[in-house]
Amino acid sequence: MIRHECGLFGIYGHEEAARLTYFGLYAQQHRGQESAGIVSSDGDAIFEHKGMGLVPDVFAEGDLQRLPGSTALGHVRYSTTGQSALRNAQPFVVRYRGRNIVLAHNGNLVNTLALREELESSGSIFSTTTDTEVLVHLLARALKDHDLPGAVRQICKKANGAFCLLILSGDTLIAARDPYGFHPLALGRLNGSPVFASETCAFDLLEAASERPIAPGEMYIVDSSGERSEPFCDAPPPRPRQCIFELIYFARPDSSVFGEQVYLCRKRMGWQLAVESAPDVDFVLPFPDSGVYPAIGFAHCAELPYEHAMIRNHYVGRTFIQPSQSMRNFAVRVKINPVRPMIEGKRICIVDDSIVRGTTMMTRVRKLRELGAREVHIRISSPPVKFPCYYGIDFASRGELIAARHSLPEIIEKLDVDSLHYLSIEGMLHAVMHSDSYCLACFTGEYPIYGCEAGKYRLESSSDGGMCAALQD
Ligand code: SF4
Repeated sequence: MIRHECGLFGIYGHEEAARLTYFGLYAQQHRGQESAGIVSSDGDAIFEHKGMGLVPDVFAEGDLQRLPGSTALGHVRYSTTGQSALRNAQPFVVRYRGRNIVLAHNGNLVNTLALREELESSGSIFSTTTDTEVLVHLLARALKDHDLPGAVRQICKKANGAFCLLILSGDTLIAARDPYGFHPLALGRLNGSPVFASETCAFDLLEAASERPIAPGEMYIVDSSGERSEPFCDAPPPRPRQCIFELIYFARPDSSVFGEQVYLCRKRMGWQLAVESAPDVDFVLPFPDSGVYPAIGFAHCAELPYEHAMIRNHYVGRTFIQPSQSMRNFAVRVKINPVRPMIEGKRICIVDDSIVRGTTMMTRVRKLRELGAREVHIRISSPPVKFPCYYGIDFASRGELIAARHSLPEIIEKLDVDSLHYLSIEGMLHAVMHSDSYCLACFTGEYPIYGCEAGKYRLESSSDGGMCAALQD
């Protein structure tokens, strides 16, 4: 399973700040299910509540009532660096020289180890295992010589990698996005108050207007004197490298990210996939939920019937008891079950968004074969994932990626399918509007940020339990 990184939400100058942040996180639960947190401010004091688990489990009515103030930041987390533990839950709050600093981060730095060693060698003590705490320490140091916007500008220059940040101190809230713009961060407005979210589906739930994405390399500053935008980068990269997997899989289809409508984008990817390779079959079968949107476009283009012949159990929660080794495919079956009469004797084309390890796909194809499918073809609405991601997306190690270890004919044999086609890189870029602004590193191995180039660098464990890039010996 591919894991999301994190989701952010922030609001400035609204009397219901914490409650709105709760709903903003609720809408973005898909971006992180391990922990959730909200920190509110009345301009002077800071109030916080964090916990492990889903947003509605972490917050009860009483918790929200204990989060007064008109400004709030929220975070849902899935750990891409650092352990899954309450002390790593965000937003982080630190007190420095008499002022509170609150920071929430989405992404993954690639120079965490170097920054942490530098900080530790000059006296910083760390209490968590995340790259986010590195940012907090950098910020505290920069505040010795700068005001908050100046300090944020300094840390954004030192941090290398993927970061969307929401930072609050005193009466100032700052949103910032790394110069490559790996992950999304959007600006919206609710009753005149600026709101920020990783995805615009959070704005829809609050009935806030969606204004625009925060640009790569932009700092958006809100304080009692008003709002302003500043670039923080002296030498911006020639073009952004936004994570195209947000469009393929991560973001909610009702969101708009990077200025692209996710639902329409996925449909276009499916359409393009059918242009490249549409088999002669009885019907198109989407794997729910991720395959649904490309499958709609695929079926339209190929003029094939579209059947929801795989039914998803929506109530499989985190408390699901893991099966024993002898029942290891049980976990896959409990989530999705085929409609038996639809399968027997049929020629079926499965459409899904990606194949990572291939184990889930193998189990599902086996089930279709058992139920008497005459032919099983697979069409994937993204190119083969051959390289790991160092920017905040947890795929698998390179050795676990099926397309990194096996040729197309080998994968066809392993999955026991009649044919398999992945969307070409050209086809994928044809389906998006801003085709020269995307990171493709997990498909091509061409990593946009120095420190992660395949072959030249290797990933290694850092002392904080996270990962960082190091030069090959
Ligand atoms: S390597 Fe892949 S998953 Fe990671 S940021 Fe780039 S496109 Fe996204």
